[in-house]
Amino acid sequence: MIVKISNKSLLQKFAICNVDYIKTVCNGSCCNSSNKLMVTVHDSEKDNILNNPFIKIDIEGNFIKPNEKGLCPFKNEYGLCVLHNTIYKPFGCIVSPFTLNKNNTLIVRNRYRLLKCYRININKTPVYIAHKFSLVKLFGESGYDEICNNMNFNRDFFIYLDNIKYSILKDNDNFKKNMLLKKHKQRDFINGKTTKE
Ligand code: SF4
Ligand code: SF4
Repeated sequence: MIVKISNKSLLQKFAICNVDYIKTVCNGSCCNSSNKLMVTVHDSEKDNILNNPFIKIDIEGNFIKPNEKGLCPFKNEYGLCVLHNTIYKPFGCIVSPFTLNKNNTLIVRNRYRLLKCYRININKTPVYIAHKFSLVKLFGESGYDEICNNMNFNRDFFIYLDNIKYSILKDNDNFKKNMLLKKHKQRDFINGKTTKE
């Protein structure tokens, strides 16, 4: 599948996401589960993650059930993900903060602009460098080099994305959209509003 890369979106500046930064500054705040944040698990990943040897979890639909503190159960006391660099980490987490929009353009998820790593004004770098790890997982080393070369030309460009990875990204976004829609309908119902089906 050929997807478009948004030059403008990938030039947004973020702090480099690494262990030191997570431990000393952000405490992995992108992993705080709440009503709004849903840690998505694709159907193809469910059995694997349920059998992880670290922490027993529950999955509701396509989402990891938060722990009693409302956090992702895999986030440890230092803000780090205990699944990082294991075969159990959900694909959606591995490739965050990136996603495909409805036009099949790779962008940074909006919610990441609410985080400290975007809102601070020092030591930031374009997100395609700050989150190199995620782009390499999506496009491979050679795809990442292609992205770096194209970023110099200040325009959007196209790149090949593996069909399975493409499908997981699209499915995950649909799971989230459907869940949000369901929550909005429930809220409207509680508030006495009616919604058109
Ligand atoms: S994306 Fe930002 S908030 Fe999340 S772990 Fe990385 S630096 Fe921290
Ligand atoms: S699985 Fe790991 S990366 Fe994903 S939300 Fe939980 S702690 Fe964060």
